[in-house]
Amino acid sequence: MKSEWDIAIERATANNAPAVFSALSNFSYIENARSRLKEAKSKVIDNMEYYIGKTMESVRRVGGTAYLARDLEDARRRILEIIGERRKIILGKSSVAFEIGLRKFLKENGKDVWETDFGELLLQISDEEPSHIITVALHMTRERFAHNLHEKLDRNIDEKSTASEMADSVRNFLRNKFQEAEIGITGANAISADTGTVVLVENEGNIRMTTVKPPVHIVITGVDKIVPTMEDAFNEAMVQSAYAGSFPPTYINFTSGPSSTGDIEAEVIRPATGPKDLFVILLDNGRLNASSDPKMKEALMCIRCGRCYYSCPVYSILGKDWGKSPYSGPTGVMWNYITTGDSVPSHLCTHSGGCKVVCPMDINIPGILEYLKWKNISGMKSDSTEE
Ligand code: SF4
Repeated sequence: MKSEWDIAIERATANNAPAVFSALSNFSYIENARSRLKEAKSKVIDNMEYYIGKTMESVRRVGGTAYLARDLEDARRRILEIIGERRKIILGKSSVAFEIGLRKFLKENGKDVWETDFGELLLQISDEEPSHIITVALHMTRERFAHNLHEKLDRNIDEKSTASEMADSVRNFLRNKFQEAEIGITGANAISADTGTVVLVENEGNIRMTTVKPPVHIVITGVDKIVPTMEDAFNEAMVQSAYAGSFPPTYINFTSGPSSTGDIEAEVIRPATGPKDLFVILLDNGRLNASSDPKMKEALMCIRCGRCYYSCPVYSILGKDWGKSPYSGPTGVMWNYITTGDSVPSHLCTHSGGCKVVCPMDINIPGILEYLKWKNISGMKSDSTEE
């Protein structure tokens, strides 16, 4: 008999591949965007300190506040300082927020925190961890989705409910949370160094609400998300959504500073009706180190489309148990090393090579995992020599 995981991964793989093929064959400009994006990201990785400085200047120029956080504690402390006495917080889906343990940390500090992405909300109420870099609740079948909704949020939902009924239930629950929120926290798909513009791709509408409804918007994202120009950031949004199997995305959000108006004598006044403050926290947490490692720097090219997961035999069996959430699966094992220094999960890679074939950034994932195996073994050898 098939396990819940077998059913979930089979269904997701069957949905992803045709959607990606259809986007790539119907919209030929995506290929052009992809190759330009590769060049743009390489430029940043080769000169990261410069681009971090430039991005922070640009964020400030458009009225935002920018920080570089060196590690998890630094990022969490800065976010808590910004939040201050305010309590009601909504989160947009962000693997970096999970990387720094943000939801848990804020709850421990007495805040009322709610995820606004459907999958993330399901994980929150079920007390589970992401199993995929973007389809975070991939391990849950529709039946369990319904069961958990019934148990934790809405007694009207049961296992016979349709997907639309479940979506309606979540929608009604979240509408209230958007209304009450004092702080909205999101990640970023890309941030442009020349304009300080944060770009976010989504389908649900929750990101748009999280970035606009509360009076304060905080962005927490990795320095690897920096691209040189706003055009590059738009390219990233197109390529990411196409390879994630959701092109065209319902929404692409561009945020350059707090809300503003030019309606009074053409003078730019901030804020207007949207947020009055925008804070951008750029997280290092191992990324700068990786950018100076000739092998690991390639991993920073990842745009988190999640496609490599569907071509990996090891992930299809182990799921989120290969690596550590949110960085499980083929790209996750590389990212687990970058952010925690743990190279042990690389030993499970069988080097089938499917991940490399389907990656829009042509990242040699098996080659990097082989390098991590070598690092792990040579580390063990030097440890035993020391003894
Ligand atoms: S490694 Fe490539 S395929 Fe995998 S998530 Fe990153 S960009 Fe997508």
